[in-house]
Amino acid sequence: MSQQHYDLIAIGGGSGGLAVAEKAAQFGKKVAVVEHARMGGTCVNNGCVPKKVMWYAANLAHAVDDAHGFGIPAQRRETDWRMLVEGRESYISNINRYWDSHVEDHGITRINGKAHFVDKRTIEVNGVQYSADHIVIATGGQPIVPPVPGAELGMTSDGFFQLQEQPKNVAVIGGGYIGVELSGVLQALGSHVSLIALEDKPMERFDPMISEVLIEEMQNQGIDMHMGFQVAALSNSAEGIVIADKQGNSLGGFDTVIWAVGRRPNTRDLKLETAGVEVLSNGIVPVDGFQNTNVEGIYAIGDITGKVPLTPVAIAAGRRLAERLFNRKPLMKVDYDNIPSVVFSHPPIGTVGLTETEAREKHDKVSVYKTQFTPMRYALNQLNGGHGSKTAMKLVCVGDEETVVGIHMIGDNVDEMLQGFAVAVKMGATKADFDNTIAIHPTSAEELVTLKVPEPDPVEESIDTGLEWSEAV
Ligand SMILES: Cc1cc2nc3c(=O)[nH]c(=O)nc-3n(C[C@H](O)[C@H](O)[C@H](O)COP(=O)(O)OP(=O)(O)OC[C@H]3O[C@@H](n4cnc5c(N)ncnc54)[C@H](O)[C@@H]3O)c2cc1C
Repeated sequence: MSQQHYDLIAIGGGSGGLAVAEKAAQFGKKVAVVEHARMGGTCVNNGCVPKKVMWYAANLAHAVDDAHGFGIPAQRRETDWRMLVEGRESYISNINRYWDSHVEDHGITRINGKAHFVDKRTIEVNGVQYSADHIVIATGGQPIVPPVPGAELGMTSDGFFQLQEQPKNVAVIGGGYIGVELSGVLQALGSHVSLIALEDKPMERFDPMISEVLIEEMQNQGIDMHMGFQVAALSNSAEGIVIADKQGNSLGGFDTVIWAVGRRPNTRDLKLETAGVEVLSNGIVPVDGFQNTNVEGIYAIGDITGKVPLTPVAIAAGRRLAERLFNRKPLMKVDYDNIPSVVFSHPPIGTVGLTETEAREKHDKVSVYKTQFTPMRYALNQLNGGHGSKTAMKLVCVGDEETVVGIHMIGDNVDEMLQGFAVAVKMGATKADFDNTIAIHPTSAEELVTLKVPEPDPVEESIDTGLEWSEAV
């Protein structure tokens, strides 16, 4: 059997695989990327990019609804779903083409097909074997469909991005970020959405302030929230798909059901055992801080590692790994602390660092500052009887210096606000540093540098201090 040898092979042409391959090629190495689908991986084809296009569409729909408050006589009709989807897909095709030529321009070999291991140094794709000094597993993950009767009546987020017609009455199952994001998009574009989740509240691992505001906002948008509902079966009825729990409660009928209950790493087809690579029962490939698996010369990056499943994290891990292997930077690795993350809900959520609860578990002295207000964007709307959308922010500080260890926000534009503030947190900024920064007025962001009164400690909560959350001017 013919065999080609490389310095590095990346299995998976997604965020992580492309990042490590590109960097290794820049260092003059002979590199190959194996991909069986379109270049770009989940983020480009079934994740961040199509999701964000839909989110922009939903934002515009909200803006049209609010326009009359400003004297702009806009009126919304039905969404032209086909036009939206066609535009989105041609934008994605451009990104696919960019990656195809980028890979070629960098002298990286693209191997089309599904890879599996043959031994520690060798993989096989379509019957051809390829060997490398370094093999990087970057195969990402795929949506989970739980093994309940009738589960096949539902689709996953991948199916959502294939929809050619707008669903009218949709159930989204799952209270994590994908469920919340898809619910917000669909409702804004004119579908009726029911969000169903096992948990008591959506985004339950986030600061409670976030979930509280999120629930209120989603309900105000008309989304039916069914929390604490354990889906046991899906079935067809004359009215559409019915969703039942074990207690005999049922919801429906829906024309579309979307499973958003988590993702599983793509390890099943890799034959990792032939290379001796450890894999956990949930499909995760465990790695140390330097992305090393238990086998020398085999690494894993991105979603497959079970660590912070975000595109920039996969990219950072790939680039740093190439720097370490090929650019004499033996200590280069990703710092997994204080990674900012955004949920593109309506309104969006932005968070970095410790939640208040985590801070109290780890530190003796914790001070918390928070605010809640309706941004000026909604002022005229509200004057005309329209709706307003809330913003809430929380700063978590520790020690006498009041080092800022956590920022948690929900509200318009916090998605764009967070990046700069995350730099400050990463640099160890204190509350005084925030206070010493002159505010930009009138913005929502200025609230973060003008927070005045710390929240009373939980132990003192029974005492009425008379302090209110600060109000925006
Ligand atoms: C709906 C949704 C929305 C998201 N939104 C965001 C967001 O807003 N921001 C953000 O940062 N992250 C977001 N993510 C997460 C983000 O997409 C992932 O964290 C990121 O893509 C992980 O990169 P990766 O390289 O680990 O894997 P992937 O990008 O998934 O790439 C893996 C690639 O490997 C290929 N592959 C798998 N097995 C094999 C094999 N055996 N042989 C050859 N190729 C193989 C796959 O086809 C795929 O192209 C979202 C994800 C989803 C599903």
